[in-house]
Amino acid sequence: MSERPRLTVLSGPSGVGKSTVVAHMRQQHPEAWLSVSATTRRPRPGEQHGVHYYFVDNDEFDKLIANGELLEWAVFAGNRYGTPRAAVLEKLESGVPVLLEIDLQGARQVRESMAEALLVFLAPPSWEELVRRLTGRGTESQSVIERRLEAAKVELAAEAEFDMTLVNRSVEQVVAELLALLGVV
Ligand code: 5GP
Repeated sequence: MSERPRLTVLSGPSGVGKSTVVAHMRQQHPEAWLSVSATTRRPRPGEQHGVHYYFVDNDEFDKLIANGELLEWAVFAGNRYGTPRAAVLEKLESGVPVLLEIDLQGARQVRESMAEALLVFLAPPSWEELVRRLTGRGTESQSVIERRLEAAKVELAAEAEFDMTLVNRSVEQVVAELLALLGVV
Protein backbone atom coordinates (compact mmCIF):
# COMPACT_ATOMS: atom_id res chain seq x y z
CA MET A 1 0.00 0.00 0.00
CA SER A 2 2.56 2.59 1.10
CA GLU A 3 4.70 2.26 -1.98
CA ARG A 4 7.26 5.04 -2.14
CA PRO A 5 6.10 7.77 -4.57
CA ARG A 6 8.02 7.93 -7.75
CA LEU A 7 10.47 10.63 -8.62
CA THR A 8 9.27 12.61 -11.68
CA VAL A 9 11.82 14.33 -13.90
CA LEU A 10 10.83 17.10 -16.30
CA SER A 11 13.37 17.72 -19.02
CA GLY A 12 13.53 18.75 -22.67
CA PRO A 13 15.32 20.95 -25.15
CA SER A 14 16.51 24.48 -24.37
CA GLY A 15 13.87 27.06 -25.11
CA VAL A 16 10.95 24.67 -24.75
CA GLY A 17 9.60 26.44 -21.64
CA LYS A 18 10.58 24.16 -18.73
CA SER A 19 11.34 27.03 -16.40
CA THR A 20 8.05 28.80 -17.18
CA VAL A 21 6.16 25.62 -16.31
CA VAL A 22 8.06 25.30 -13.05
CA ALA A 23 7.62 28.97 -12.16
CA HIS A 24 3.88 28.54 -12.63
CA MET A 25 3.82 25.45 -10.42
CA ARG A 26 5.81 27.15 -7.72
CA GLN A 27 3.36 30.05 -7.57
CA GLN A 28 0.05 28.29 -8.09
CA HIS A 29 0.71 24.88 -6.55
CA PRO A 30 3.10 25.08 -3.60
CA GLU A 31 1.75 21.66 -2.52
CA ALA A 32 3.75 20.06 -5.35
CA TRP A 33 7.27 19.72 -4.02
CA LEU A 34 9.93 20.93 -6.41
CA SER A 35 13.55 20.14 -5.82
CA VAL A 36 15.75 23.24 -5.46
CA SER A 37 19.00 22.81 -7.37
CA ALA A 38 22.44 24.12 -6.53
CA THR A 39 24.10 26.21 -9.22
CA THR A 40 27.25 28.21 -9.79
CA ARG A 41 25.36 30.66 -12.02
CA ARG A 42 24.73 34.16 -10.69
CA PRO A 43 21.18 34.95 -9.54
CA ARG A 44 18.97 36.76 -12.03
CA PRO A 45 16.87 39.68 -10.80
CA GLY A 46 14.11 38.39 -8.55
CA GLU A 47 15.70 34.99 -7.92
CA GLN A 48 16.06 34.03 -4.25
CA HIS A 49 18.62 31.78 -2.63
CA GLY A 50 16.90 28.64 -1.36
CA VAL A 51 13.75 29.27 -3.40
CA HIS A 52 14.79 29.22 -7.05
CA TYR A 53 18.30 27.84 -6.56
CA TYR A 54 21.00 27.49 -3.96
CA PHE A 55 23.57 29.87 -5.41
CA VAL A 56 27.02 28.53 -4.57
CA ASP A 57 30.56 29.28 -5.69
CA ASN A 58 32.81 26.81 -7.52
CA ASP A 59 34.52 25.60 -4.33
CA GLU A 60 31.20 24.85 -2.67
CA PHE A 61 30.01 23.01 -5.76
CA ASP A 62 33.26 20.97 -5.78
CA LYS A 63 32.55 19.99 -2.17
CA LEU A 64 28.99 18.93 -2.96
CA ILE A 65 30.35 16.63 -5.66
CA ALA A 66 33.20 15.31 -3.52
CA ASN A 67 30.86 14.53 -0.61
CA GLY A 68 28.43 12.68 -2.87
CA GLU A 69 25.70 15.16 -2.02
CA LEU A 70 24.35 15.48 -5.57
CA LEU A 71 21.94 13.03 -7.14
CA GLU A 72 23.07 14.27 -10.55
CA TRP A 73 24.87 17.30 -11.92
CA ALA A 74 25.74 18.82 -15.28
CA VAL A 75 27.42 21.77 -16.96
CA PHE A 76 25.01 23.97 -18.87
CA ALA A 77 26.12 27.11 -20.75
CA GLY A 78 29.29 27.36 -18.67
CA ASN A 79 27.70 26.93 -15.24
CA ARG A 80 27.23 23.87 -13.07
CA TYR A 81 23.83 22.72 -11.84
CA GLY A 82 23.02 19.82 -9.52
CA THR A 83 20.23 18.23 -7.52
CA PRO A 84 20.82 17.90 -3.75
CA ARG A 85 20.31 14.22 -3.00
CA ALA A 86 19.28 14.28 0.68
CA ALA A 87 16.23 16.54 0.33
CA VAL A 88 14.85 14.50 -2.56
CA LEU A 89 15.26 11.17 -0.77
CA GLU A 90 13.80 12.56 2.44
CA LYS A 91 10.66 13.77 0.65
CA LEU A 92 10.22 10.48 -1.18
CA GLU A 93 10.70 8.52 2.05
CA SER A 94 8.04 10.60 3.78
CA GLY A 95 5.54 10.00 0.99
CA VAL A 96 5.79 13.29 -0.85
CA PRO A 97 6.01 13.15 -4.66
CA VAL A 98 9.03 14.99 -6.00
CA LEU A 99 9.52 16.87 -9.26
CA LEU A 100 12.93 17.72 -10.73
CA GLU A 101 13.32 20.20 -13.60
CA ILE A 102 16.74 19.51 -15.06
CA ASP A 103 18.58 19.41 -18.37
CA LEU A 104 18.90 16.32 -20.58
CA GLN A 105 22.32 15.28 -19.24
CA GLY A 106 20.91 15.30 -15.71
CA ALA A 107 17.84 13.33 -16.76
CA ARG A 108 20.10 10.61 -18.19
CA GLN A 109 22.00 10.38 -14.90
CA VAL A 110 18.77 10.02 -12.92
CA ARG A 111 17.73 7.24 -15.31
CA GLU A 112 20.98 5.42 -14.44
CA SER A 113 20.80 5.86 -10.68
CA MET A 114 17.03 5.61 -10.03
CA ALA A 115 15.38 3.16 -12.36
CA GLU A 116 11.93 3.84 -10.89
CA ALA A 117 12.00 7.54 -11.86
CA LEU A 118 9.46 8.71 -14.41
CA LEU A 119 11.16 10.70 -17.16
CA VAL A 120 8.90 13.26 -18.81
CA PHE A 121 10.00 15.00 -22.00
CA LEU A 122 8.60 18.48 -22.58
CA ALA A 123 8.27 18.96 -26.34
CA PRO A 124 7.51 22.11 -28.35
CA PRO A 125 4.20 22.16 -30.27
CA SER A 126 6.23 22.16 -33.50
CA TRP A 127 9.76 22.63 -34.82
CA GLU A 128 8.70 26.05 -36.17
CA GLU A 129 7.59 27.13 -32.70
CA LEU A 130 10.90 26.05 -31.15
CA VAL A 131 12.79 27.99 -33.85
CA ARG A 132 10.64 31.01 -33.06
CA ARG A 133 11.42 30.73 -29.34
CA LEU A 134 15.13 30.20 -29.83
CA THR A 135 15.52 33.07 -32.27
CA GLY A 136 12.84 35.28 -30.73
CA ARG A 137 14.98 38.04 -29.30
CA GLY A 138 16.55 38.73 -32.67
CA THR A 139 19.74 40.01 -31.07
CA GLU A 140 22.02 37.05 -31.83
CA SER A 141 24.17 36.67 -34.91
CA GLN A 142 23.19 34.20 -37.63
CA SER A 143 26.00 31.81 -36.65
CA VAL A 144 24.89 31.75 -32.99
CA ILE A 145 21.33 31.04 -34.08
CA GLU A 146 22.45 28.26 -36.39
CA ARG A 147 24.47 26.65 -33.59
CA ARG A 148 21.45 26.79 -31.29
CA LEU A 149 19.20 25.21 -33.89
CA GLU A 150 21.71 22.41 -34.52
CA ALA A 151 21.83 21.77 -30.75
CA ALA A 152 18.02 21.82 -30.60
CA LYS A 153 17.79 19.11 -33.28
CA VAL A 154 20.08 16.85 -31.25
CA GLU A 155 18.11 17.61 -28.07
CA LEU A 156 14.78 16.80 -29.71
CA ALA A 157 16.08 13.36 -30.63
CA ALA A 158 16.45 12.60 -26.90
CA GLU A 159 12.67 12.19 -26.68
CA ALA A 160 13.10 8.51 -27.51
CA GLU A 161 14.92 7.96 -24.19
CA PHE A 162 11.97 9.23 -22.14
CA ASP A 163 8.98 7.42 -20.64
CA MET A 164 6.48 9.95 -21.91
CA THR A 165 6.08 13.29 -23.67
CA LEU A 166 4.04 16.34 -22.77
CA VAL A 167 3.57 18.92 -25.51
CA ASN A 168 3.91 22.51 -24.33
CA ARG A 169 0.86 24.05 -26.01
CA SER A 170 -0.19 25.92 -22.90
CA VAL A 171 1.55 26.30 -19.55
CA GLU A 172 -1.69 25.66 -17.64
CA GLN A 173 -2.26 22.41 -19.49
CA VAL A 174 1.26 21.11 -18.88
CA VAL A 175 1.03 22.03 -15.19
CA ALA A 176 -2.30 20.21 -14.89
CA GLU A 177 -0.84 17.12 -16.56
CA LEU A 178 2.20 17.19 -14.28
CA LEU A 179 0.05 17.57 -11.16
CA ALA A 180 -1.97 14.55 -12.25
CA LEU A 181 1.22 12.54 -12.80
CA LEU A 182 2.50 13.55 -9.37
CA GLY A 183 -0.84 12.62 -7.84
CA VAL A 184 -1.30 15.97 -6.09
CA VAL A 185 -4.69 16.80 -7.60
P1 5GP B 1 18.65 28.38 -15.94
O1 5GP B 1 20.04 28.89 -15.77
O2 5GP B 1 17.98 28.98 -17.14
O3 5GP B 1 17.84 28.50 -14.68
O4 5GP B 1 18.76 26.82 -16.23
C1 5GP B 1 19.53 26.35 -17.29
C2 5GP B 1 19.33 24.85 -17.47
O5 5GP B 1 19.77 24.15 -16.31
C3 5GP B 1 17.87 24.45 -17.68
O6 5GP B 1 17.84 23.55 -18.80
C4 5GP B 1 17.51 23.70 -16.42
O7 5GP B 1 16.60 22.65 -16.69
C5 5GP B 1 18.86 23.13 -16.03
N1 5GP B 1 18.95 22.78 -14.60
C6 5GP B 1 18.46 23.47 -13.54
N2 5GP B 1 18.74 22.82 -12.40
C7 5GP B 1 19.41 21.69 -12.75
C8 5GP B 1 19.96 20.60 -12.01
O8 5GP B 1 19.90 20.51 -10.79
N3 5GP B 1 20.59 19.64 -12.73
C9 5GP B 1 20.69 19.67 -14.09
N4 5GP B 1 21.29 18.66 -14.70
N5 5GP B 1 20.19 20.68 -14.82
C10 5GP B 1 19.55 21.67 -14.15
